[in-house]
Amino acid sequence: MLPVSQILDPIPRVSLILKGCKLVASDIVEKVKAAGVVGAGGAGFPTHIKLSATVNTVIANGAECEPLLHADQHLMARYPEVIVRGLRLAMQATGAERGIVALKAEYEEATAALQRALEGNDKISLHLLGNFYPSGDEFVLVYDVLGRMVPEGGIPLEVGVVVNNVGTLFNVARAAEDISVTHRYLTVTGEVKHPVTLRVPVGTSIAQVVEWAGGTTDAGRGLTPDELVLIGGGAMMGQVVQATDVVTKTTGGVLVLPADKAIIRWMTRPLANAIRRGMSTCDQCRDCTDLCPRNLLGHALAPHEIMRAINYGLELPTHIVTAAVLCCECRLCEAYACPLELSPMAYYRSVKRELAQAGWKNTVHRRKDLTPHDMFPYRRVPMSRLIDKLGLTAYRDYPVPLNEQEQRPKEVRIPLQQHIGAPAIPTVREGDKVKRGDLIASIPDGKLGANVHASVSGKVAEVTEEHIRIETG
Ligand code: SF4
Ligand code: SF4
Repeated sequence: MLPVSQILDPIPRVSLILKGCKLVASDIVEKVKAAGVVGAGGAGFPTHIKLSATVNTVIANGAECEPLLHADQHLMARYPEVIVRGLRLAMQATGAERGIVALKAEYEEATAALQRALEGNDKISLHLLGNFYPSGDEFVLVYDVLGRMVPEGGIPLEVGVVVNNVGTLFNVARAAEDISVTHRYLTVTGEVKHPVTLRVPVGTSIAQVVEWAGGTTDAGRGLTPDELVLIGGGAMMGQVVQATDVVTKTTGGVLVLPADKAIIRWMTRPLANAIRRGMSTCDQCRDCTDLCPRNLLGHALAPHEIMRAINYGLELPTHIVTAAVLCCECRLCEAYACPLELSPMAYYRSVKRELAQAGWKNTVHRRKDLTPHDMFPYRRVPMSRLIDKLGLTAYRDYPVPLNEQEQRPKEVRIPLQQHIGAPAIPTVREGDKVKRGDLIASIPDGKLGANVHASVSGKVAEVTEEHIRIETG
């Protein structure tokens, strides 16, 4: 049996057989906390908090429903035993009797690998999903897998479920062997010479990551680097980033796209502009509402109503506005549903910001008696059609092989806040020597947060309120 510590340090070329677990639940939670594990799927919620709950089911989320990203698929295919071990530890910590790995049926290699890893296991099963967007949304996933409805404005815990991304569970398994989160698997694709899935140190610059993927292309039409835009994360829920921004524990991908792609327009359009367009063109067709995944689950979220409320200034009940808190910002209304490319999501985002600033707490949108819409199964958005609509068809079939070669940046700039909660407090000073995996910033006393560790060995060159910079020398 190989310890998890030998998986990547150095990278072995053997399969792992991990059985048995001597840790008790509180040990697991403490180790996960110490290792700085956060939700790798994008939200960055501290995992030790999730694992402190008591539930009956843990779902490993392997849906990876952002177009063009493949990091989770590679992880499941390459390290199925580690993910299963992470899932078993999460079940043990939460007291869950049942574990389910949910992934898309079309991830054939990952499915076969997990099936082999689960042979003889009667507590953990696979659930194969269709290729829809957003099949990885926790509300949609819990309904698809278990038929349970997470209440409006609620969390899966309220229906006895914890959902962890497969990348998170990979880190949970490593945390159990005292290995902290220092690296991130991510797909680099689009206008790069060698689209690839890499394992990179947290804090590496986006520019460096693009260089490791061979640098940018000219998109076959002579575009200069200035005419390309970088997206951190996926095309739907990611955001435009700068070359100097860095990879965090939650960065699942870097996309390099021509600036004239519609998706870039949407991501960079100022709110005032979005509202002006909405006021002049929204015809209340309600396509946005008909395809909204939360509306289809029965939530009182109707994006065409917020358009009406803001565009026409009608005297509408406040709950139409406060329903903004139910929007998961999946971007389907803007990127797929609306024939005029209008963005109810931008309205909701802005309302959410204002509600948060005003200290508004959601006690209104908490319905539990939810019934999915009759059309729920028929209005799901197929991934291939979404990719076409986004103008990303040219990149759909790019191979993005896994390359786990050790990547060595000259420096890393590690953010102190890569998670939901308070920023971590530095525990090192400029000039200190650190080794990969050393704790460099810790959770403030009594606060929600996550520890931060050195992702490379080197010298601490800078400590600010936002980041710690380490030079590898
Ligand atoms: S789909 Fe577009 S035009 Fe139709 S109601 Fe929604 S925002 Fe308005
Ligand atoms: S982004 Fe649009 S489609 Fe998605 S949940 Fe919000 S309103 Fe619905």
